[in-house]
Amino acid sequence: MIDVPDPAAQEHFDFIVCGGGTAGCVLARRLAEDPRVRVLVLEAGGDDRIEAVRNATTWMRTIGTELDWQFRAQPSDWLDGRSAPLPMGKVLGGGSSVNGLVWARGHRSDFDHWAQQTGDAGWSYAAVLELYKRIESWDGPADAARRGSDGPVYVTLPRDPVPLVSALVEATAAAGIPAVADLNGAAMEGGGACGIPNVTVRGRDERVSMATAYLRPVMGQANLVVRLHASVERVRFDGMRASAVEYTVNGSPRVARAAMEIILCMGAINTPKVLMLSGIGDERRLAEHGIALVQHLPGVGQNFQDHILVAGCVWEYQQPEAPRNNSAEFTFFCKSDPALPAPDLQPVLEECAFGSERVRGDFALPADPSLAWTLAPGLVRPYSRGHIALTGSRPGDPVAVHANFLSDRRDVRALLRAVELCREIGNSPPLRPYVRRELMPGSLPPGRMETWLRQAAGTYFHQSCTARMGRDKLAVVDGSLRVYGVRGLRIADASVMPAITTGNTMAPCVVIGERAADLLRSTHGLGTGQETAP
Ligand SMILES: Cc1cc2nc3c(=O)[nH]c(=O)nc-3n(C[C@H](O)[C@H](O)[C@H](O)COP(=O)(O)OP(=O)(O)OC[C@H]3O[C@@H](n4cnc5c(N)ncnc54)[C@H](O)[C@@H]3O)c2cc1C
Repeated sequence: MIDVPDPAAQEHFDFIVCGGGTAGCVLARRLAEDPRVRVLVLEAGGDDRIEAVRNATTWMRTIGTELDWQFRAQPSDWLDGRSAPLPMGKVLGGGSSVNGLVWARGHRSDFDHWAQQTGDAGWSYAAVLELYKRIESWDGPADAARRGSDGPVYVTLPRDPVPLVSALVEATAAAGIPAVADLNGAAMEGGGACGIPNVTVRGRDERVSMATAYLRPVMGQANLVVRLHASVERVRFDGMRASAVEYTVNGSPRVARAAMEIILCMGAINTPKVLMLSGIGDERRLAEHGIALVQHLPGVGQNFQDHILVAGCVWEYQQPEAPRNNSAEFTFFCKSDPALPAPDLQPVLEECAFGSERVRGDFALPADPSLAWTLAPGLVRPYSRGHIALTGSRPGDPVAVHANFLSDRRDVRALLRAVELCREIGNSPPLRPYVRRELMPGSLPPGRMETWLRQAAGTYFHQSCTARMGRDKLAVVDGSLRVYGVRGLRIADASVMPAITTGNTMAPCVVIGERAADLLRSTHGLGTGQETAP
């Protein structure tokens, strides 16, 4: 426990939002709309008003920098002994400040599954669709039933994508995957589609993050304090009630007290870590680290899920094109097996040569990545499950992330099908004007192809599900996002997903932030600031 000698250093708020990332920015903004409550946001990263965040085309270059937590998965035999990098944003806005800006709603069946797991119709597709309408300011083909037009998040189609994109759409449609104008329209209710993804890019290259869309417009308000470089270490309890947060700013300890609730929004790796350090987790494992138990919840840190991205099927350009917009202007959803109830594959274009450290040398990828383009096979309904474990009881001790990518044979089968499909598309006639030669993987015998897959596969950057909603003994929160067994503590980030959504995960995290705000408003009788006097 942090020793804070000066009682004046203990500040008092109504709500403390731990983590100013994607869901945290949404939630903090919504809570602060009621001028009667005081809200504190604690964010370990720094200011997002920098070019590396603003510029939508350069997001890949933030990986491995101080804007990234630089987590790595434990070395794994399933990945040929590799330790896969697991980038996550460490800056105001979190993932939404460093990510690839693709805005993907998630499939109808994802949310209906969440509703079924929680017994809460508020998570159903029909209910989530209404939240999306409130969130979005959609600047694309009209669809009043599914899209909103005056929400805080500007969503559009990339302007003037690289010419290669129209050839990819043509080739993918010819392979039997229909082309659609809006991948977040009816396509997210069916069996698959291809097209240009929705992106959160304004103008030529300006990132719209959840910090810029939600938090920055209200950061001058007297009832909202946003503290940067503030690392949350533990939640403190008075009996079974979460009452305060211990954190450090530049190494100096502080404590903030919450009169109403504390909400953990630190993402799918650090949220379970802080829970465990605070005494909430599996009793036996906490005891191994000498952590006093507050509540036995064996599901904390379990059920780790991520989409799996293969880096990648690469072609040398005939005529290199500079990346535009978010550098990933084409994607498709399809089934690896027609018998599946929903699409499980989502390959994506990367407008550069994209290869894992292990395979780059073997396939002579160009030193200048702009000389090539990649269709990266992606799996978005994985069966592989991992877990997160403490390595010590101090906040500075790293966590061990056992990602277990490709530990389930069904994932290998599905991704081999994705590789086949990507190669078929990339080598088909519409792409010939853009291809000098195929660089990776080429045609390989089946055994060698699987080895290459294990050498090339890794994260799609969508870590989630480690403190999941549900009603069984491994659930960590209920459908109202309340941590089981204690009071005054909720979770709102990617960790609460019972199962990962079909598609990139930023948009569903915004939904989680909005829903958390609705639930807290209803519990505490908060207003939105828009109420009119009776
Ligand atoms: C490189 C990359 C590319 C991606 N591309 C896309 C994409 O194109 N489309 C898409 O939909 N999704 C994408 N994602 C994923 C998406 O951004 C995440 O799923 C989403 O942002 C997760 O939201 P969250 O609220 O759960 O956590 P985050 O947004 O990660 O927020 C967690 C916040 O908590 C802070 N924090 C953590 N620990 C502490 C602590 N101890 N104390 C204080 N603060 C703490 C972090 O610094 C961070 O700001 C990408 C992610 C990355 C990293």
